[in-house]
Amino acid sequence: MEVKQVAALPKQFAIMDLEMSDDVLTISAVSTQACPCCPLCGKPSARIHSRYRRKLADLPCGGRHVRLLVHVRKCFCDTPTCIRKIFVERLTPFVNSFARVTKRLFHIVQVIGLATGGRLGVRVTDRLGIQTSRHTILRRIMALPTEPVGQITELGIDDFAFKRGRTYGTLLIDLQSHQVLDILPDRKAETAAAWMKSHSEIRVVSRDRGGDYAAAAQTSAPQATQCADRFHLMTNLSKSLEGFLSRHLAAYRTRVDLESRATPLSIAQGKGPPKKNPKQAYESQAKREERLAQYQQVVALRKLGFSQTAIAAQVGVGHATVSRWLRHGTFPDHKSPQRRSRLDPHLNVVAERWEAGCHNIAQLHRELVAAGHTLTYRNVYRQLVRYLPQGRKKSGSASQLPRAPVLAREAVFVLLRRTEELEAKDREMLALLRSLHPEVDQAYELVQQFREMLRTRTGEQLNAWLEKVRVSQIRELQGFVAGVERDKKAVRAGLTLPTSNGMVEGKVNKLKLLKRMGYGRAGFPLLRQRVLHAL
Ligand SMILES: [Zn+2]
Repeated sequence: MEVKQVAALPKQFAIMDLEMSDDVLTISAVSTQACPCCPLCGKPSARIHSRYRRKLADLPCGGRHVRLLVHVRKCFCDTPTCIRKIFVERLTPFVNSFARVTKRLFHIVQVIGLATGGRLGVRVTDRLGIQTSRHTILRRIMALPTEPVGQITELGIDDFAFKRGRTYGTLLIDLQSHQVLDILPDRKAETAAAWMKSHSEIRVVSRDRGGDYAAAAQTSAPQATQCADRFHLMTNLSKSLEGFLSRHLAAYRTRVDLESRATPLSIAQGKGPPKKNPKQAYESQAKREERLAQYQQVVALRKLGFSQTAIAAQVGVGHATVSRWLRHGTFPDHKSPQRRSRLDPHLNVVAERWEAGCHNIAQLHRELVAAGHTLTYRNVYRQLVRYLPQGRKKSGSASQLPRAPVLAREAVFVLLRRTEELEAKDREMLALLRSLHPEVDQAYELVQQFREMLRTRTGEQLNAWLEKVRVSQIRELQGFVAGVERDKKAVRAGLTLPTSNGMVEGKVNKLKLLKRMGYGRAGFPLLRQRVLHAL
């Protein structure tokens, strides 16, 4: 098999020579086409003026750069009417005129550029054995022509963040061909309206719940049915639901907390203050062992006849301690002194009041002071806390409240799912949530009805559903209802038509990926090129 075939070089090339160094493969060739044609008049010419060598970069081979040295001819154009007298034979379509790289290399660099961007692109081409620069890559991307937008019947429109919370752009998708039509540098109604204006053929506009795209479609595509996207509808509903569940879960936490505080004080059960925790116990044990070792050393040194002063210096304890230990004759176990506090004489009274249901320490303090005892609030608080079931560091602090069985965000998920989609543990959670309050149970029914309406595309039930929510008087859902009322036509279309913005969301994700790769010099025009020509 010939080199020409392996390297997929054009037929009119005749290979003259191959030269290989560590990183460059040089292929010398001659163009052998019969009679080169004048690029202007198209007539073949047989009269050769001269020859010269074109240097071309081609696709790499085995990790080496490939350099093509092609001998081409300059010819005379003998057509009397042609203004071109001398021309160079063309190598198209393999190489464009004046180009220094083959078309296939040009294309590959463009593709790598689209996939990676400038800087990363150079790192990739380096490893592939292609010599280029990031500027060249960016130039190739920017050189891609924008395809004209054809007829669109279903338009999907959504925003994406350049900088979250600050600057946004707009993505436009043909929902039937799944093609990105364009990206716009902002999400203003006017910009989107200006784009839509030239497309009077649009029948359906699928959009989010914001007012801007609705207004744009209203002004520039009044013929189109607006369709509120189901994903955004569900997001809105779940936001309202989250607020609702937070309220009920907070109420649940307070309830559980009150119950736990109602447990009797340990004074009342005849127990002392809580024991040391394991870490404290371990530390005091270690300290005791160290002290015991010192004691044994003191006794041993004394038996050897050392003086007390010498022993104290040797062992590293005070003279008084050595003296005391030797006087006692046994190791004195350190006993923590029985802590007495000013509250101790009143503990029984306090326990009684606690039993009676007064769990407010400030109140207990006031009562003790009123009875003529000199006690500070701090004193009462500190002493009493030691007797509380789990201790109580900060009165009423949220961190001390028992955890809710689930976060509101997770609970929303459980409520929104269909029962048959739930795992066993989520079903238990659902049962618990529904038992929290009749209102939660009612909200669950409503949410499931909405979900079903959305799933079975039965938008005609929307009015009845909205009425049910109004009657339920669930505070947080009223906001959702009001929002739907403002945009009812589009919501009903969203609940009825099969159109979905899901694909737009997918494209937005892809765009985000491209956006994040385009750090550095990349601006909106480059991002637009990369999105429109994404692989
Ligand atoms: Zn000519």
